[in-house]
Amino acid sequence: MLNKLNQSIYYLDNDENKERPTLGLVCGDKYSLVIDAGNSVQHAKEFLNEIKRLHVPPIKYLVITHGHWDHFLGLNEFDSSIIIVNNLTNEILTTWQNYSFDDESLQTYVDSKWMSPKCMEIIKSEMPTRESFRLNAPDIIFEKSLTIDLGNKVCVLEKVRSTHSNDSTIIYVPDDKVLFLGDSAYGTTTNGLFHIKQSVLLPMIEDIQKYDANYYLLGHESICDLEEMNLYWKELISTSNVTNSTSLEKAVANFELVYSRTPNSNEHFFLRAFVNDQRIQSR
Ligand SMILES: [Zn+2]
Repeated sequence: MLNKLNQSIYYLDNDENKERPTLGLVCGDKYSLVIDAGNSVQHAKEFLNEIKRLHVPPIKYLVITHGHWDHFLGLNEFDSSIIIVNNLTNEILTTWQNYSFDDESLQTYVDSKWMSPKCMEIIKSEMPTRESFRLNAPDIIFEKSLTIDLGNKVCVLEKVRSTHSNDSTIIYVPDDKVLFLGDSAYGTTTNGLFHIKQSVLLPMIEDIQKYDANYYLLGHESICDLEEMNLYWKELISTSNVTNSTSLEKAVANFELVYSRTPNSNEHFFLRAFVNDQRIQSR
C-alpha cells in the first residue's frame, strides 16, 4: 500500500528484510515524478501497480537519488519515463550498464567486491529473465541542480554534499514543504567499517537545511517530521564535536564532560561512527 502524505505526494515504505528503500511519487496537474526505481524488477513492478490504482497523471520523470544498487536496479521498468541522474551517479550507472546478470557474471562481481552478496541474492530472486538483462541508460544528466514543473507542482533537484555518498541528489517540493533525502543523511561503510564522514557533516546539513521543509522522506526510514530531523542533526553535531581521536572511550568521556550526561543509544551509535571515521582517515 502506498502512503499518502497529501494530495500530491505518496510513498512506499522501505522494507529492510528485502533491502528495499523508500520510493516516492510527486504528482502535478500534468505529470508525475517518481523518486528512486526500487532494488529490483519485482520491487519496481509492485510500486507501479500501486501507482496505477491511484489514477494520477502519467509518470514522465524518474529521479535516481544516488548510485547504490537498491535505488536503481528497477529502472528498466520505467522505460516510458525520462530518467534523471546527476553526473556522478551517471558515472556509476555507466559501469552497471556493462554488467551481465547471469550466475557466473554475478559471482565474478561478488568475488571482486564490485557487488555485495546481498545484492546478488536479491538479483537472483527478484530479477526474472535476468540472463538477458542490461541496465538502461539515463536520459538527463545534470551537474548541480535542475527544476522540473509537473504542472502547478515544481520539484527542485540538487546534488548535495553528503556523509553517505558523493553523488547524492535530494528532491524538494516547495509547495508542500517536503524534502526527499534518499540516503544522503546516513553514514557509509568502508572496508566493513561503518562511519560518518566528519568532514562533510556540517556542509551537508547546510545544503539540506537551506530548504524549508516540514517533512523529510529518508531512504531507509520512510518519513520524519521537522522536529525529528532537527533532533537527528543535533545529535550528529553534538557527537561529532566531541570526537577528535580514534578512541571511543575518549569520545564518550568527552561527551560526558561537555554535556554532563551519558550518551543515549543514538548518540553512542554516532560516536562510534565518528571514531571509525577518524580511524579510516588516519590510515
Ligand atoms: Zn545508499
